[in-house]
Amino acid sequence: MTGERFDARSVLPAARDIAAAGPICDACLGGAFGQLGRGLSNADRGRALRSLLAPIGADAPGGTCWVCGGLFDEVEEWARRAAARVEEIEFDTYLFGVRPTPRLSEVEAYFLERFPTGTAEPLKHAFNRCVGKAFEALVGRGTVDFRDPHVTFTVDLERREVAVRVASVFLYGRYRKLVRGIPQTHWPCRRCKGRGCEACGGTGKQYAESVEEIVARPFVDAARAEGAHLHGAGREDIDARMLGTGRPFVLELVTPRVRSLDLDALQRTLAREAVGRVEVSELRWASREAVAQVKETRATKRYVARVAFGGEIEEAVLEKALEGLVGTIRQRTPRRVAHRRADLVRERRLHEIRGRMTGSREAEIELVTDGGLYVKELVSGDEGRTHPSLAEILGVSAVVAALDVTRITSSEFPDGDHASMDEGAGVA
Ligand SMILES: [Zn+2]
Ligand SMILES: [Zn+2]
Repeated sequence: MTGERFDARSVLPAARDIAAAGPICDACLGGAFGQLGRGLSNADRGRALRSLLAPIGADAPGGTCWVCGGLFDEVEEWARRAAARVEEIEFDTYLFGVRPTPRLSEVEAYFLERFPTGTAEPLKHAFNRCVGKAFEALVGRGTVDFRDPHVTFTVDLERREVAVRVASVFLYGRYRKLVRGIPQTHWPCRRCKGRGCEACGGTGKQYAESVEEIVARPFVDAARAEGAHLHGAGREDIDARMLGTGRPFVLELVTPRVRSLDLDALQRTLAREAVGRVEVSELRWASREAVAQVKETRATKRYVARVAFGGEIEEAVLEKALEGLVGTIRQRTPRRVAHRRADLVRERRLHEIRGRMTGSREAEIELVTDGGLYVKELVSGDEGRTHPSLAEILGVSAVVAALDVTRITSSEFPDGDHASMDEGAGVA
């Protein structure tokens, strides 16, 4: 049936029945046979049928189409309204969707039941395509994209309005955090939950700035975006530095008006503005899927920690204790994160660890672990919640005085460095 050409004569009896039922527009008449033939619009099909019906006096009487209620006469108007919404927005691809009124859906269902041609195109498809074509002609740019369009319009026929959604821009990179005391993402003020109060000086923020805000600023400005999210491959503690080759992240620019960004120039701007605090490398374009990939990647992490002991420790004793620590570590959710993480026991692997005493009660240790192993608790034991722990083996209290993440790598996001700390940089 679906040949190259639309043979109007073959469906004439069915078309005559439809036309006899009441006034109908070309698009709806042709839409009943929308799956027949190629390269034609439904209105073309409808016109072809009507020209055959007219000589026998069977073309439909004039008046508002009883199927669509005149919807296809409004195509130009909806296209104009959509175009007005994106006058200041850069896009290459678009998609239209329509939310029909309940009445329109009911009438269409009735029409299909009464005239089961088996070749009808759903009214929504037909309308979306028509508005899209009119929109393209009007703005002189854009290609329809069903998978991941830059702008998505929804024509709401019930509310008589066009909503537009602009797809986020995604960038991949790795960041280094050179100072302590900055969270990865912005934290709402604990006191006012972000509304702004005396405690936070009206900023609504617990910390004056975050890696997210520092990294995003030049990109948000250039893209004229409404905001940004930094999605990290895990996160370091606020008081830990992120050194080495940095932590993989995806920066999402929300509702960007500009998409064609000069990444090299922006990276230079960022380097200037964030000097001494944050550095970004490997910056490149990424897809929406990269957000989940970067968040779910099972990365191996390397740390350097300065540890303070509650008593004097001999070098040989420390070495023996560290040896005994390698292997599986059982960790119950640490008390310090229990308010935001489910309370459960995780098993993580400590792959390598070594260290040296830097004073009678102080050591520097370097370790390689599975992602998700809590290093502070590996050292302190967290009152028995982490087992084994350095404090437990030594029989003396031990706390991390300073922590740096010095390497994060995974098969999906390798950093080009070496996997083992014996091959990489030594203790910093
Ligand atoms: Zn119609
Ligand atoms: Zn506050």
